[in-house]
Amino acid sequence: MQFNFVSQKFNELDKTTKRLEMTAILKELFLEADEDLKMLVYLILGKVAPDFEGIEFGMGNKLIINALSSVSGKSEKEISGMFARTGDVGSVARDITAVKKQKSLASEELTVKYVFNSLRKLADTSGAGSVKEKESIYSDLILNGTPDDAMYITRVIAGKLRLGVSDATVLDALVEAFYEKTDKSSVETAYNFHPDLGYIAELLRDRKIDQIKKIGPEPLIPFKVMLAERLPDIDQILGKMSGEKAAFEFKYDGLRAGIHKLGDRVRIFSRGNEDTTSQFPDIVENLKKTFRAESVILDGEAVPYNPETGELYPFQMVSQRRGRKYDLDEMKETVPVVVFLFDILYLNGESLVSKPYLERRRTLESLFEENDSFKMARSVVSDDPGEIEKFFEDSIEHGCEGVVAKNVGPESVYRAGSRGWLWIKFKRDYQAELWDALDLVVVGAFHGHGRRKGTYGALLMASYNKEKDVFETVCKLGTGFTDEVLFSLPDKFSGLAQDRKPPNLECELEPDVWIYPEKVMEIVGAEITLSPVHTCAFSMVKEGSGLALRFPRFNGRWRDDKSPTDATTTNEVLEMYKNQSSKNK
Ligand code: ATP
Repeated sequence: MQFNFVSQKFNELDKTTKRLEMTAILKELFLEADEDLKMLVYLILGKVAPDFEGIEFGMGNKLIINALSSVSGKSEKEISGMFARTGDVGSVARDITAVKKQKSLASEELTVKYVFNSLRKLADTSGAGSVKEKESIYSDLILNGTPDDAMYITRVIAGKLRLGVSDATVLDALVEAFYEKTDKSSVETAYNFHPDLGYIAELLRDRKIDQIKKIGPEPLIPFKVMLAERLPDIDQILGKMSGEKAAFEFKYDGLRAGIHKLGDRVRIFSRGNEDTTSQFPDIVENLKKTFRAESVILDGEAVPYNPETGELYPFQMVSQRRGRKYDLDEMKETVPVVVFLFDILYLNGESLVSKPYLERRRTLESLFEENDSFKMARSVVSDDPGEIEKFFEDSIEHGCEGVVAKNVGPESVYRAGSRGWLWIKFKRDYQAELWDALDLVVVGAFHGHGRRKGTYGALLMASYNKEKDVFETVCKLGTGFTDEVLFSLPDKFSGLAQDRKPPNLECELEPDVWIYPEKVMEIVGAEITLSPVHTCAFSMVKEGSGLALRFPRFNGRWRDDKSPTDATTTNEVLEMYKNQSSKNK
C-alpha cells in the first residue's frame, strides 16, 4: 500500500468528528491493507509497536526543526518562527516540502512498509551518532513523499498525530472489516488480555476466531486491569452481590501493579499498562525469592510503608520512584514499598481467570509466605452490615481509603478491562455530599486576567462518553491550584494546545485555547447540576441540557496513570446525578 493513500485517508479522518464516519474510513483502509495491516494499525495510532513495548522516537521538535532546516536551506530561526505561528511541526514540514527543490539520494517508493520500517529504525537508533542518523532517516522520509505524507510522518514522530481515533474505534473498524458477526465481546476480551491492536488485527484478518477466543492472560504481556463500580452504602452493595456473602477488602491507596514472572524474567505494569519494572527493583528481587512458580501473573496495589511499624504512607511517595535511577539500597531505605496482593490470573501455564474469586484467592494464599514486600490484602467474607461497617472503620484507621467488595459467587471471574458489579468500591469520601472525586480530561483553557495574567485562568474539563467515543464538557475549573501549579499550566499543556477543536470533543463553549484530550486531573465538587452550556449527557436528563459539576476544585492529584479514555465516563456522571437526586428526595 502506498503511504499517500493513507495520508489521504488521514485527511478525511481529520475532517470528521463523527465516529461512524471514522469507523467507515478505517474499515476501508483495513480492507485494502493486506499484509501491511499490522503496520497500518500502529501508524494510525501514531506508533510503531504496542504501547507496552515503550518504544519512543527520541526526536523532539528541536531535532525536527534542525532536519527541516538542512533539507530546505532555510535557517533554524526561520523554521522556528513558522512553528511558533502554527504550533504544529507537521504543517511546517508540509509547507517546507511543498516547495522543496532537493530529492533524497536514495529515492524510494514511499510505501506503508517503507515508512513503518524507517520509523522503527529511527526509534531503535540510539547512542553516539544517533542524532545524525535519526535526522537522515527523517529527511529521507519527508523528501520522498508528498507534502501531506511529510506532515503526517512528522506528526507521528513528534507524538502528535491526534486524529481523534481511539483504540476502541480501531477495534470497531477491525471487527466491521473482518468479523461482521455480532460477537464483538470475545474480540474485546482478547484485547483486554492482550492489548496489542496490531496482533489482534492480524488474527481477525486471517479469520483465526478460535485463536482469538482462546486469548487470556499471558506472562510478560500487560492486561487491562479489572475495575470496580461504586455505591454509597453497604446495604446497597450487599444487595448487588446476588444475595450472597461478599468478600470485603481493604482498599489500599497506592499504585496498581500487574506483576508478571516467567522463569527469571519479571515485569511490572501500571494501571495504564506502562512498564514500571525499573521503579521496583526491590519488588522484582523479592518476587523471585517469594514466588517459586515457573510462571505467575498477580494483581495488587503497591503502597509505600514503614516495615518496622506497618504504617502506610501516602501513595505520592511511590510516585517519587518514577523516572529516577535509584540505587536499590537507597530506594529500599527512602521509599520502602509493599505490594498488597488481591488476585492471581495465571499460574504455571494455566489461566485462572474463569475460576471463582475465592478459589483464586486461596490459590494465591497457598503460594507464598507474607514478607516485607508481599502481603495479602486484608479481607473478610461477610453479609453482616455491622461487621462490614467495623471492617470499613478498621481500613480507615490503617490509612486506607475504604473497602472494595468482591462478588464470591460462581460468576466471580476476573474480568479484564471491565468496570462491573463484581467489584464495588466504597470510600470514606462517599459519605460527603458528592460521593467521589471525578477524573476529568483537560480539553481547553481560558487566558487568565489580573493576578493570573500570563497563565490560564481556568481549564475546560470533560468526561468520556464511552458509547460515542467522544469527550463531553462538565465544568470550567479555576480553583484548587497552588501558584506554582497555576503558572506551570501553559508549559504543561504547550505540547497539547491547538487552535482548532479536537475531533473527538463535543463542546458548546469556545475556550481561548483548545487542548487535545490527554491529561487527566482529579476534581472534587459540590454537586452535579443541569447546565445549558455543558455537553455531558446532553438531553439525556432534560431536553437541551447537559450535566455540570458545581464548584469544581482540583485536589492536587494529576492522574498520569490514567489515559483519557480511563477518565470518569458520562454514564458515571449521570449515575452520580441520579443518585444525588434520589438522596435529596
Ligand atoms: P478506578 O481504578 O476504579 O478507575 P481510581 O483509579 O480513581 O478508580 P479508586 O476509585 O480509588 O481508583 O479505586 C480503585 C482502585 O483501588 C483500583 O484500581 C486499585 O488500584 C485500588 N485498590 C486498592 N485496594 C484494592 C483491592 N483490595 N482490590 C481491588 N482494587 C484495590
